[in-house]
Amino acid sequence: MDCPQCHQPLSAIEIETSDGQIHSVAECLNCGGHLLEPYLANFLTIETARNIDSIIPKSHTFPATTPICPKCGQTMPGIKDDSVPQTVTVYNCPNNHGDFFSKNQLLLFKQAQQSKIYYHKLWGIPLRSAFAVLIPILVIFSFATLLPSIIRQVGTSQETRTKASEILTSPLITPISSTQVLISFSTQRPAKTSIRFIEGLTQTYPVSTTPETNHLLSVEGLLPGTLYKYLIVLEIGGKPVATSEYTFSTP
Ligand SMILES: [Zn+2]
Ligand SMILES: [Zn+2]
Repeated sequence: MDCPQCHQPLSAIEIETSDGQIHSVAECLNCGGHLLEPYLANFLTIETARNIDSIIPKSHTFPATTPICPKCGQTMPGIKDDSVPQTVTVYNCPNNHGDFFSKNQLLLFKQAQQSKIYYHKLWGIPLRSAFAVLIPILVIFSFATLLPSIIRQVGTSQETRTKASEILTSPLITPISSTQVLISFSTQRPAKTSIRFIEGLTQTYPVSTTPETNHLLSVEGLLPGTLYKYLIVLEIGGKPVATSEYTFSTP
């Protein structure tokens, strides 16, 4: 696979995300750019981003053209929405093959994201949409092949529960304060979703009341330093299926 920007071969490096998972990032030793799988930049800690972006590129000159996705050959436009400041450029494949960051842009993006979250925390201003700080999620392709079997096997029991977990991205928890978190996740197909708390709270919150692929819930009034457990309930083909449980703790 070649670099979207300078078209030299990319090499793979392994990184750990904030939820402890290992992912591969494609790195260009020539221009210092990085191609990340969709949504992954949202999960990196600022330290990991700093580490990734500490690469010293061989070349400081590269064509000033729009990057090309090495997987599908489409040009990758810059993301223009609230999640990316105007001073930072994040290129995104229109077919959702990933996000490309030129040298230093990943660290700048993470610093901007962290500052915005910190601002909301500090001023106690609720952040109404996680997509004000997160790179937008489109569709998660790695789960696509699982889908036909899920639709067929929707029934009861443990099996359904496991498969419901497979069609979701791991929910991303964004703490806004010690009493407010944002829970965001995506589904392969549009689905109605809700979140059922089973520990720390006993309440079910509707998340998407019409079928959507990006889901976001802001939960307020939580207790500081408390463990919460919840399930995500998806409605697929009119039948509700629940995921296995997820947990988070408030700061
Ligand atoms: Zn390059
Ligand atoms: Zn692509």
